[in-house]
Amino acid sequence: MAPNSVSTGQRDSPPSPEQAPGWPLPAAHWLDQLPQGVALLSPSYTLLQANQSLLAYTGLSLQELQGQPWLARLHPADLPSLEAQLLKLKQGADLLLDCRWLAADGGFCWHQTQARLLPEGQVLLSMSDVHERKEQETRLRQADDLWKLALESNGDGVWDWYVQTGVEIYSPRYLQMYGYSPNEIQPSPAEFDALTHPDDLAQMSLDREAHFSGRAPLYSNEHRVRCKDGSWKWILSRGMVISRDEEGRPLRMVGTHTDITARKQSEALIWQQAHFDALTGLPNRRLLRERLEQAQHVAWKSGRSVAVLFIDLDHFKEVNDLLGHAMGDLLLVQATQRIVACAPAPHTVARMGGDEFTVVLSEIDSPQQAEAIAQNILQALAFAFRLEGERVFVSASIGLSLYPADGEQIETLFKHADQALYMAKGAGRNRLCRFTPALQTAAQERARLGNDLHDALSEQQFSLVYQPIVRLSDGLIHKAEALLRWQHPSRGLLGPGEFIPLAETSGLIIEIGEWVFEQVALQVQDWRSRFNPRFQLNINKSPVQFRSSGLPNGQAQGHAWARRLKELGLPGQAIAVEITEGLLLEADELVTLHLDSLRKAGMQVSLDDFGTGYSSLSYLQRLAIDQVKIDKSFVSHLKTGAKELALCNAIITMAHALGIEVVAEGVETEEQHRLLLEAGCDFGQGYWYARPMPAQALEELLKTSGRLGKT
Ligand code: C2E
Ligand code: MG
Ligand code: MG
Repeated sequence: MAPNSVSTGQRDSPPSPEQAPGWPLPAAHWLDQLPQGVALLSPSYTLLQANQSLLAYTGLSLQELQGQPWLARLHPADLPSLEAQLLKLKQGADLLLDCRWLAADGGFCWHQTQARLLPEGQVLLSMSDVHERKEQETRLRQADDLWKLALESNGDGVWDWYVQTGVEIYSPRYLQMYGYSPNEIQPSPAEFDALTHPDDLAQMSLDREAHFSGRAPLYSNEHRVRCKDGSWKWILSRGMVISRDEEGRPLRMVGTHTDITARKQSEALIWQQAHFDALTGLPNRRLLRERLEQAQHVAWKSGRSVAVLFIDLDHFKEVNDLLGHAMGDLLLVQATQRIVACAPAPHTVARMGGDEFTVVLSEIDSPQQAEAIAQNILQALAFAFRLEGERVFVSASIGLSLYPADGEQIETLFKHADQALYMAKGAGRNRLCRFTPALQTAAQERARLGNDLHDALSEQQFSLVYQPIVRLSDGLIHKAEALLRWQHPSRGLLGPGEFIPLAETSGLIIEIGEWVFEQVALQVQDWRSRFNPRFQLNINKSPVQFRSSGLPNGQAQGHAWARRLKELGLPGQAIAVEITEGLLLEADELVTLHLDSLRKAGMQVSLDDFGTGYSSLSYLQRLAIDQVKIDKSFVSHLKTGAKELALCNAIITMAHALGIEVVAEGVETEEQHRLLLEAGCDFGQGYWYARPMPAQALEELLKTSGRLGKT
């Protein structure tokens, strides 16, 4: 509306009595007693009457003022808002406005101005002096602007919320942070709450309430805000109530928004790294524990069970060693996919490191249900893996324990699943074993046996037995294999199968192996001098002995053995060292050096249990093996026309072509002996010739004929 649409400049004709009923008032009228100014205006806002306070304020007499356009005394800056209100006044609404009126001294003072339309169209107006308050407000606003500016200079956005009127004012930086221009967002908190991530609203109002109620001295909350471009920003909102009403309710609150998106992203990354396995993306050990705790809690309430599966890939190491770590990684990723497919959410599949996985099956109704899922996993892992064109087979062993039947604590459940896994592996792999109390007993016994093993050497509880190895062509005992026995104080005589694995895991095998070597060296020296100067003793050497010679390079132990043989006046050929195929798979530099130093000293290297592992003939050549021992599992199935016979034939032919001699192990029947002889096998070892026996007994044999085998 144009400013002159209400008349401010023209004079009205003098008032008629109808226009001012009851006016002029008597001089001592009570209106004169009021501190505020009161005036009666004509419908076109010329002054008709005024009380003393108003006259005093203007410094004019009634006569001077009467008929003057009253609005001409208004501060021009306040005219638009007054005009707007006057329009409403004409429609019957009351007017209430702070505005400035011209004073006697020529200045303008702030007045709370109220007006009401009288039935005749005249306007009754009152003015109360609020100058002091308005001045203070102005000063405050200027101060506000200053600190808002200061806050914004940090890059923060500033909000200023009039809690009870619901008006919220945002600084330019605030809106700019989210990509909005000032007129795009209404100044109301509801408007901004609508841009807040729904998941964050509840916490936001809790935090707000904590501050409103005085429990928190500051309001502080982290939430996400949707930007104009649809992206989300993480925001730290901090604020404080700066004024309250008499009842302590907040009136005004101010605060800032700080963009913490970058910090949140790096926190998320750190969390991700701390809780997930980088290779497979699976939860790691730490997150698994959290998930298991949650699953236990849910099961505890529902009365159901949780199953813990410990999964270990069989032969993973071989793949890693033979095909390289990149292929090993590929295999782990594919294995992960198969396991997850069998145990999708709400179950959790985690990688514990290496080729070990743990699955938590939640909300399980019966052990059979858990076992069925575990069997599915076994089947899924048994199929061939395709690794960049290479077909690879691995199977898995799984140990299972159930909450709460097999244990209530996480540690117990893990321990029991681990014991079950140990059994699954021991029972030949590619199988599932569920925890039972008997398993626990077995595990405890193993632990006890492990303890006893520490004293076995010093208590002289070990002994060696010797099993002859005979030349098939003439039955002559050419060699013998030294086999370890443990006379346990309470359990009696134990075979190596019962304690070698324990000795390997505890590292005791190193010391024990040294003892065996010393005994064997002395023995072969004795027999060579008394019976046969070319006699040879075979000694079993564990992969652990190769890996941890305890010395910086693998040659050292081989050298020590060579030196000892020299001291005893023995050539290297007096000893053959039996190694397993597994060792060759790990044929790293250390192992190769170690083998080399044995061979340089003249000792023979014999490949034990040939055919049970990877059986790659390429090793035989590459690592200069002198002798292979065909595993008894082949020999025991030897029959005319049997597949095993063809295999033995092939092994013998190829070994001979490479200049390697062949020993058949586990020969138990005459037929086996005959077939091996016909196949051209060089040596035989087995119960059919002789069982392992004490040195004394073998000595008797050597003394008499030195021959075995009923040929
Ligand atoms: P191995 O080196 O393959 O030894 C042959 C095993 O087959 C011996 O079992 C022997 O008693 C058994 N055997 C021999 N002939 C026959 C037969 O005709 N039929 C059957 N069924 N079995 C036969 P043993 O003495 O129980 O030794 C088991 C394994 O323990 C050995 O397998 C070897 O790997 C390991 N071992 C033995 N002594 C030592 C040792 O001093 N150090 C290390 N590291 N390992 C050893
Ligand atoms: Mg052996
Ligand atoms: Mg063997």
